[in-house]
Amino acid sequence: MRCERCDQADRRPVRRAKLAERDHKVAVVLDVPMEECQSCGDRWLRWDVAGRLDQLFSEMLASDVEVATRHFDGTLSAA
Ligand SMILES: [Zn+2]
Repeated sequence: MRCERCDQADRRPVRRAKLAERDHKVAVVLDVPMEECQSCGDRWLRWDVAGRLDQLFSEMLASDVEVATRHFDGTLSAA
């Protein structure tokens, strides 16, 4: 799909990390599926991916872990 922002390239499916911070705690979710424009770098998340991500961040930031890391697909990372 053509990028609506720069109209210079196509969006490509990629997997990137997303990070959230709250109350001195950090949550990192790895391998989040999204689309990225190769020209301007703009990224899009599907609504269901964004919803799952919100849920993961809420769970992770509610725990006592200062820096929580997790893969989007559900497996806990060794980090
Ligand atoms: Zn673009």
